[in-house]
Parts: sequence; structure tokens; C-alpha cells
Amino acid sequence: MRPELKEYALDELFAKTFDIAGKAVRSTDKERAILLRSIPYVGGLLEPMLALGKPAATFLEIMGDYYTNIVNARARGKKVVMTTFCFDPTIFYAFDNLVPVTLEVGTVITSILWKRGSFDYMDFCTEVGFSETGCSSQRGTMGAYLAGAGVDIDMVAINMGGVCDTNGNAYSFAAQYLGKPFYGLDYPSELTPGDVTDYHHKDYRALIRFIEEQGGGRFDIDRLRELLEEKKIQDELTHELEDMQRLVPNPVPGLFNLMLYAGRYTWSGGKKYTRMLKEMVDVVRANADKGLSGLGKPEKCRAFLFYIDNFSFNVGMFQWLRKNQVSHMGNMLSRFFPDNAPYRRDVQGTCYRIDTTSLDTMIDTLADINARMPMTRTIRGPYDAPNMWLEDSLSLAEMYKADCCIYNGTPGCRNTWSNVKLIMRDLEKHGFPTHLVYADAFDGRVESWETTAMRLDEFFSVRGLL
Ligand code: SF4
Repeated sequence: MRPELKEYALDELFAKTFDIAGKAVRSTDKERAILLRSIPYVGGLLEPMLALGKPAATFLEIMGDYYTNIVNARARGKKVVMTTFCFDPTIFYAFDNLVPVTLEVGTVITSILWKRGSFDYMDFCTEVGFSETGCSSQRGTMGAYLAGAGVDIDMVAINMGGVCDTNGNAYSFAAQYLGKPFYGLDYPSELTPGDVTDYHHKDYRALIRFIEEQGGGRFDIDRLRELLEEKKIQDELTHELEDMQRLVPNPVPGLFNLMLYAGRYTWSGGKKYTRMLKEMVDVVRANADKGLSGLGKPEKCRAFLFYIDNFSFNVGMFQWLRKNQVSHMGNMLSRFFPDNAPYRRDVQGTCYRIDTTSLDTMIDTLADINARMPMTRTIRGPYDAPNMWLEDSLSLAEMYKADCCIYNGTPGCRNTWSNVKLIMRDLEKHGFPTHLVYADAFDGRVESWETTAMRLDEFFSVRGLL
């Protein structure tokens, strides 16, 4: 890794960046114009964010809080848990001394914020022995922590063993390399049978024991109840957004999808996240009342991203969609499957329910939520088996009246690349023109954004969508 990159701690860079971006929100028009003139490099990201108004301001604030907490963890006597985006962080916040750091969130930030992305960090993982064919979403920031260019990690806890080999291997590699304790929850082979559910609930209790043994501090039952009650409100607000997303035109701005899932991966159960969701609902409701699309211009087409988003520099993909008047209809990352979601109709019996009656029901709830996190739920087995990728994608694409489906992913993702052509064929058979993006969502060296955009132009034009 270039020595100069080790001079700046990654989490501190993020904390400072969000702090400055937050100040930009509160600036006058004149101050903002001067600021954007002085920082043309990040203007392409800041401008579309600031245009989203209040919810974006809160988003910058909660992301700033997230990294400030990480930076200050040790000084405040807290322990840092390295974890993955598909692990609901509520349990960490129920302890009085844990601070989660989610690698994939950091990788997305580097990709959309810096032209250099996290290439150096990714390469560092390979330099010290990790497979270069692993998913780039973890490698992006894992390299920084391995190289000592981030805060010290105290333990590693993840959700994925069995669902995604590359995710599970990345975290277990990091734990071994750093010499830290590791716990990987097992994956839910099925979602409904009682014995599988029992196993998963027990596994989750073992995770809590692991955290306690590693000095996880006081596990606060009242705090957990409070967090879960807050999550109920968050789920209701998310459903309201998802319900309005079904309207034609879709009144939800595309970047709201990213803010929704990034907020949930970092601050599930947190009050400021609730505030952001409320502000998002207000914006979307105002658009819906006026019959406006969230694009800020008329909607020409609706695309369902049936995997993840492309996180190219300056949110290139979101800007491309906006420019071409294509509504973003959500993706796998933005759907969490609570039992009152608008899309539950087609997936009855496979969703989670928040039950705060007792400690046991709360722990079972957390285990059930984790078993339905993005990827954990949808790609845990054969793509065309019941309640998996094909069924979920079809029911969402139909319900949200998508005109087409788009796959973005990472070449390291064996779980999807092994069958992506098959699912494309099936989606096409069901009448959805489907496009496969060959880029790496987190690593711009695999295919440049310009090439990806050119192929999107071609797809939308050849298929008569625009
Ligand atoms: S994108 Fe694929 S490889 Fe990466 S974490 Fe998700 S399932 Fe695993």
C-alpha cells in the first residue's frame, strides 16, 4: 500500500468528510457555491445529495455520527466489532460498550467519494495473502484495517457462513490476521421449518454468549426492547415509502434507496435513522400528492435492480438513471422482509415479526431478522428454489411494475455469477428485458463507469425502453 495512505486513518477521514458535508448543508447559497468551486472533485457527489434536502442532511449526520463513534470508541472505553452489512447491528447497540464497523458500508463510501476508490486497500488484502477473487465489498476497507490504517478491532462477528463463502472467508481471514476472536452465525438453509428456526435461535444465543465472553459489557434488556420498538416504527415508515414507490410515476428519488439501506446497516433501531425515514416519507408524500416522479422530471421507464447497485464515483449510476428518466425501483439491498411489508403478500410465512414480549422473544426476533437480511435470505440456496432469488425478484419486479431488470454485482460473487444467466433467462421469459452489468460495483478497475454507462445506453435503446 502506498505509504501516504497509512498516514490517514480511514475512519477518521470518513468522520471528517461527513462533518464537512454536514456543514455544507447548513451553509448559505453563496457559501455553498464557493465551497463547490473549491472542491470540484467531490462536487459531483455533494450536489445531488444536497438537492435531496432534509433527509440527505440527516443522512450525512448519521453517517458522521457512525464514524465519529468508531474513531472515539477506544477513548470512551468501548470495543469495536467488525461486522458485515447483512448482520443487523441492533444487538451491538443493546450492549453498553460495543461499536460496530461494517466493512461494506466503508467500501461504498470510498467508491462513491474517491476516484482512487479503495483500490489500495483491496490490493493490500491480496498482498498479505487473501484471495484476489474474493468479493470486493469487504476487501475495499478490510485492507485498511489489516494495514493498521483504521481503528483497532476487538472482535469479528458475522452472519454469513454458508450463504456467501467469500464474505465468510474475508471476515475469518481478517480475524486470523489480526488475531481477534471470531463468531460466524450459521445460515438459514430454510426459513419456515421449526427445527431450522430452533437451530438458528440457538445459534444466535451462542453469539450473545460469545460477545459477553469477549467483554461485551452490559447487555441491556430495556435498551434492546427500546431498539426493537423503534425498529417497528422504522419498518412502518419503510413500508410507507415502499407503498408509494408502487405509484406511477414513482415518487421516490433514486438515492433514497441507498440512504435507506445504508442507514439500516449502520443505525438499525437508532432514533436519528427514524428521523431520516420520516423526512423521506414527507418528501415522497409531497411528490405523490402532486403526481411527481422522484426523478425531478417525468418518468420514462422503471428499472428493478434485482441484485445490488453500482457504486461508481460520484454516484454515477444514480445520476445516469436520473438523466435518462429511469426510476430506481429498489433492489435486493433495500428489502428486509418484515411480515407487514407491502410485498409480503407473495412471500407469506417467510418474513420476520418483531415481538418484544420477553427477552426470549426479542432474541428470537433478532435471529429471524438476521436470517432475512439481504443476500442471507435471497441467495442462500438454488436461485429457483422456493422463497429465493428468482421468486423474490419476480414478485418485486411485478409488484413495482418494473419495465426492465438490471444486475449489478461483483465478479467475486460466485453465489450470483454461477446462475445469473439462468435467472436472466427466466426474468426474460416472464417479460422483463434484463441487462447484465459486467462491472464490479465497488472496483472501477474491472470496467470503467463510462463503459458501463455506454452499455446501459445500448440496452435501453436496443430494447426500446427509452
Ligand atoms: S456481493 Fe456476493 S460475494 Fe459479495 S457479500 Fe454479497 S453474496 Fe457475497
